[in-house]
Amino acid sequence: MYLKSIEVHGFKSFANKIVFDFHNGITGIVGPNGSGKSNVADAVRWVLGEQSAKQLRGASMQDIIFAGTENRKPLSYAYVAITLDNSDHKLAVDFAEVTVARRVYRSGESEYLLNGNPCRLKDVNELFYDTGIGKEGYSIIGQGQIEKILNGKPEERRELFDEAAGIVKFKRRKAAAQKK
Ligand code: ATP
Ligand code: MG
Repeated sequence: MYLKSIEVHGFKSFANKIVFDFHNGITGIVGPNGSGKSNVADAVRWVLGEQSAKQLRGASMQDIIFAGTENRKPLSYAYVAITLDNSDHKLAVDFAEVTVARRVYRSGESEYLLNGNPCRLKDVNELFYDTGIGKEGYSIIGQGQIEKILNGKPEERRELFDEAAGIVKFKRRKAAAQKK
């Protein structure tokens, strides 16, 4: 499984629809300060369900929608889609390619899509349990996060090991069963 592409439209500084194509190797994103490098990582975290504006370096969730510039009008929505190659079927779905998308309007209306079909955030979360992918997975390591891991409480650190060991889905199911 690997990240094939990221599509952004109206997300933060990306007013135009842009598709970043990746290959099964290492890709670096370079550019001057403020050109939008970190916004690419924010887009991935957001599409995977990030709910905290602060984590996305904004004050409110509306801040992720393109706010306009001197010669360009603001946009009314933000859209991000990531496509993963799943030919090894690491994700427990039949598709060889999985696209997760999220859209939000200024009105606050929002939706998630899995291969084009509307779904719940819960479905997105469940798809990625134990893969290391997710807004809290170790596949996205943000600035300051290494320190957080090193200085974290044992229980917090344990969560990372659980994810790597692939037992998160069982723990979640157990917790859900005990609630009933
Ligand atoms: P650095 O090298 O300093 O880390 P960077 O390439 O990571 O820079 P980002 O932090 O990704 O840059 O991008 C910041 C830019 O995104 C700023 O110019 C900011 O104005 C712009 N930006 C953020 N949110 C929006 C928005 N909602 N609408 C328009 N532009 C935005
Ligand atoms: Mg940056």
